[in-house]
Amino acid sequence: MLDIVFRSDVDVQLVKHSASDQDIAFAARVSTIGERSLGREDEDEKKLSGLINYLVRDRHGSPFEHSVFTFYVKAPIFVWREHMRHRMASYNEESGRYKVLEPEFYVPGRDRNLLQVGKAGAYTFEEGTTEQRAITSLSFKRSCKEAYQTYDDMIRAGVAREVARGVLPVTIYSSAYVTMNARALMNFLSLRQNVEGQKFPSFPQREIEMVAEKYEAIFKELMPITYAAFVENGRVSP
Ligand SMILES: Cc1cc2nc3c(=O)[nH]c(=O)nc-3n(C[C@H](O)[C@H](O)[C@H](O)COP(=O)(O)OP(=O)(O)OC[C@H]3O[C@@H](n4cnc5c(N)ncnc54)[C@H](O)[C@@H]3O)c2cc1C
Repeated sequence: MLDIVFRSDVDVQLVKHSASDQDIAFAARVSTIGERSLGREDEDEKKLSGLINYLVRDRHGSPFEHSVFTFYVKAPIFVWREHMRHRMASYNEESGRYKVLEPEFYVPGRDRNLLQVGKAGAYTFEEGTTEQRAITSLSFKRSCKEAYQTYDDMIRAGVAREVARGVLPVTIYSSAYVTMNARALMNFLSLRQNVEGQKFPSFPQREIEMVAEKYEAIFKELMPITYAAFVENGRVSP
């Protein structure tokens, strides 16, 4: 009997970073004071906040490229398909050719709304009935179990991993390291979350939004002034 894991969340961990509000100042100020811009990390917070707010508001984005985050992320493959459209990031993902994929699959949780209402590009989602929730959960589990059993049978029969993986669904989890600078991260956050007050509303799939929410908490903690300016200016990436 295969030990198949079903889960409804995503993992995001900060692996390393070089990200701080102060770094925005030295990158921005080189244009007016040259190399003396380095070593001014003790810059007055009010001045720093004014500078960062100006840069975000007027969309002078390049100073934010010097702050960099590396995340470890584990998410279903259908989330990775969307995530990897963000080209201003570096990725290294586990391989289905070089290792046997773990039997770990996504199933929508109780808080995942199931009914799509509205027009393309501006959907809202509603909860769904108990019956719809039951058939969704049952169908995900049945089909993932069957697919993984088939995969396992082929692996045991000596079929190459890269061939056998073809039967697995996009709900299987995969893990990767993602490195993004603060500018690219703000672009990701603006597109992959639906937040009250954003200047350009976006309607992302809930599961990638869960990744974005975890990125946002880390961003807020490490770069609170930049984060505040991002929110204040309608969540538009500079
Ligand atoms: C709600 C939603 C629905 C979507 N639906 C679809 C869909 O149906 N089909 C689909 O294919 N995609 C879809 N996408 C993906 C979308 O088109 C983008 O590929 C994705 O959001 C990455 O955005 P980005 O290009 O801004 O990010 P990045 O690739 O990280 O790029 C960041 C910025 O760099 C610049 N840039 C990067 N590459 C280039 C380039 N080659 N030329 C010029 N400038 C560049 C742009 O300014 C860009 O905004 C959807 C995205 C969202 C948020």
